[in-house]
Amino acid sequence: MNFGLTEEQQMVKDQVTRFAETQIKPIAAELDKTHRHPEEICRKLGEMGIMGVAIPTEYGGAGMDIVTYVLAMIAISKACASTGVIVSVNNSLYGFPVNSFGTDEQKKRYLTPVAGGKVEGCYALTEAGAGSDAAALACRAVLKGDKYIVNGTKRFITNGNVARYCVLAATADPALAYKGVLNLIVDLKETKGFSVGKIEEKMGILASGTAELVFEDAEVPAANLLGKPGQGFKQMMMGLDCGRIGIGSQACGIGKAALEDALNYAKERVQFGKPISSFQAVQFKLADMATELEAAELLLLRAAWMEDKGLDYEKESAMAKMYASDVAMKAAIEGVQIFGGYGYCKEYPAERHMRDAKICQIYEGTNEIQRMVIARKLLGAR
Ligand SMILES: Cc1cc2nc3c(=O)[nH]c(=O)nc-3n(C[C@H](O)[C@H](O)[C@H](O)COP(=O)(O)OP(=O)(O)OC[C@H]3O[C@@H](n4cnc5c(N)ncnc54)[C@H](O)[C@@H]3O)c2cc1C
Repeated sequence: MNFGLTEEQQMVKDQVTRFAETQIKPIAAELDKTHRHPEEICRKLGEMGIMGVAIPTEYGGAGMDIVTYVLAMIAISKACASTGVIVSVNNSLYGFPVNSFGTDEQKKRYLTPVAGGKVEGCYALTEAGAGSDAAALACRAVLKGDKYIVNGTKRFITNGNVARYCVLAATADPALAYKGVLNLIVDLKETKGFSVGKIEEKMGILASGTAELVFEDAEVPAANLLGKPGQGFKQMMMGLDCGRIGIGSQACGIGKAALEDALNYAKERVQFGKPISSFQAVQFKLADMATELEAAELLLLRAAWMEDKGLDYEKESAMAKMYASDVAMKAAIEGVQIFGGYGYCKEYPAERHMRDAKICQIYEGTNEIQRMVIARKLLGAR
């Protein structure tokens, strides 16, 4: 067993950490306040290969591994959770299915600009009636000649307001349930009948747009179908396995930021004539936060390593996402507690970490759904 990183992994980790600390962290509070999409950061991360870490270089990516993706995601999310999810969606939710199930032509046209960080991608699964029950899609794609005619509304789509391309999950016929699911690549700027609907007002990750996508008799070329009819649900589940590693890493980064801020504050804040870090009650909180976050990181790296090795990592990615987001939430709450009243105010980032951490327990499968996935695997059920 080897817990060390390769030279390349360590180099990318150092490079991304430096960039995140100097270019992203200083503007994270402004991004949170203004809800501004960090366009310039996304373009720079694209140049660094971070918008398509594990996508082959021939399709615009960096051709590195998922372990490197985890390291990059943690460093970026520690600086800014909103930027973290934008990067995760490009890499995992959009990049993974197009890279795994797309034809060479589809990848050249629709993956290269996203993996190269020139434009954003998004993944549209959720609907008003289809959240945890991902097969209950009402958005319908009916094949007519050489086009799919798409009708339906998608909710809560990360990057939906800024993305050029989307992998859209639709159903050929709701009566077919999961067997009717298909994934289409949609050029959101060139598709008549498509519009961006409501932009959500949220609790956290405020610089990441969360939009409704509306399709009204929208025409999508039949050539944009990923794989074959009937494969859509399996593709969706495989994409979510990869996505969960990204979201777990986002959570781990947020938790690490909460820990670092609390640690620094505890050393400086004096009460009863001593730094509060000298009180055992505060020390125990810091010790628990550090231990749980390091355990989360190990779970994430193991799941990533398994994906890199081509092993079945469904259970491990669910465990990593669930545990990382639960301990990040806990660390963020304890971080606020260590800051006392100052933690509740916007002068310090502790309250932002708490608002940002919460979503990681909810999206890309709530943690209740992760527990179902894990239990199903343990029990050998399908
Ligand atoms: C900021 C944000 C960004 C998002 N980005 C995207 C995106 O880019 N693309 C996309 O497609 N979606 C996205 N989503 C949607 C997100 O993935 C869903 O919100 C999530 O999967 C939960 O679905 P739901 O909100 O409909 O909750 P529901 O499914 O209605 O769940 C409500 C509650 O019931 C519980 N529950 C449901 N079923 C069960 C069960 N069988 N057993 C036990 N408990 C259960 C849930 O765990 C939860 O606690 C985003 C959401 C948000 C808020």
